[in-house]
Amino acid sequence: MEYRIPHYFNDFQCVAAECKDTCCAGWAIMIDEKSLEKYKNLEGPFGNRLRNSINWEEGSFQQYERRCAFLNEQNLCDIHMEAGEHMLCDTCRDYPRHKEEYEGLREGSLSLSCIEAAKIILGCKEPVQFISFEDEEEDEEFEDFDYLLFTKLMDAREKMIWLLQKRDVDIMIRISMVLDLAQKMQDALDADEVFQMDELIENFGNMDQLIEFQKDAESHPIGENEYCSTMRKIFRIFNKLEVLKADWPEYVKKAEFALYGEGQSVYEENRQRFHKSIGLKSNCYEIWSCWLEQMMVYFVFTYFCGAVYDDNIIGKMQTAVVSVLLTQELSIAKWIEQKEHLDFDGFVDIAHRVSREIEHSDLNLNRVEKICAKTPFFQSEQLKRILTRF
Ligand code: SF4
Repeated sequence: MEYRIPHYFNDFQCVAAECKDTCCAGWAIMIDEKSLEKYKNLEGPFGNRLRNSINWEEGSFQQYERRCAFLNEQNLCDIHMEAGEHMLCDTCRDYPRHKEEYEGLREGSLSLSCIEAAKIILGCKEPVQFISFEDEEEDEEFEDFDYLLFTKLMDAREKMIWLLQKRDVDIMIRISMVLDLAQKMQDALDADEVFQMDELIENFGNMDQLIEFQKDAESHPIGENEYCSTMRKIFRIFNKLEVLKADWPEYVKKAEFALYGEGQSVYEENRQRFHKSIGLKSNCYEIWSCWLEQMMVYFVFTYFCGAVYDDNIIGKMQTAVVSVLLTQELSIAKWIEQKEHLDFDGFVDIAHRVSREIEHSDLNLNRVEKICAKTPFFQSEQLKRILTRF
């Protein structure tokens, strides 16, 4: 079996009781079959507590006030403490390590929703490298696995990550260009022209294309008012999602008011001041663009090739772009709220919250993809106009 991981994968260490954001609070933890079997057979009083605290129909731990039934007052796990690490279910043992399985390949990543992992992902100053290795484990055969499409997705992803890390190109142009390639690949797939993808990938990101893309972006600028009203509509996607953390709706409401509550011209003034102070047009451009780059590379590496299972290439990229845009909006809101101040920890906090709400519910991930597919302002042409307006 072949494996691939980002170079920082093994740097993660859980800070357990020190963590200000315990991961077992907020979402239902699904238990794998093997662990359910172990829990069924565990003897003694703790075995009884375990069996009484599982939702056997769902195969998940019960929650009290949105906290896992085994998360104690010190924010430590009672299963770990009372029964030992070997009794943790796969989800708890692995988190925030995330696995994606393909035929002959297993990819690992750290999840941005864990605040300590987010510090590693977003704090990485150099372009991320991906490490491959093999072991003796037999490759698993996947029924109906479209190996041809998979190889094209892998080739495209490699090129996308290469471009996202091309730091002499403006970060928003880099993001727009990978969105554009994803759209063209989707069009080729829908037209049953998978072989056309080779040419798209081959030419992607060459100098002529870069210049052409930049010119094109400048010729269809989005106006100030349209930008504000579109971003506000995009922002409202949060209201259509399942809530994972109890304080999230209030957090979003406050941010929405800080951003759009005083009308379009105040929004635009704040946005410009933010970018001139710490964002895209500031002396801190290198830092800000690096955070956005690491976020995009994270999403593209983790999810893009998953399109081999559902043919939704563009949906994966729209979700990535929308997550980055929303993180940027929430950053502006936080910067306003904190009297024009936002540091790395503040940005990490926002990014991990967004990731937690969007990524840690299959329902939400599917919902975002569906909303993106049918709503005009999420279409790639419109997102490109949003991305390329400073
Ligand atoms: S969120 Fe991350 S650091 Fe915090 S307890 Fe969970 S795994 Fe550990």
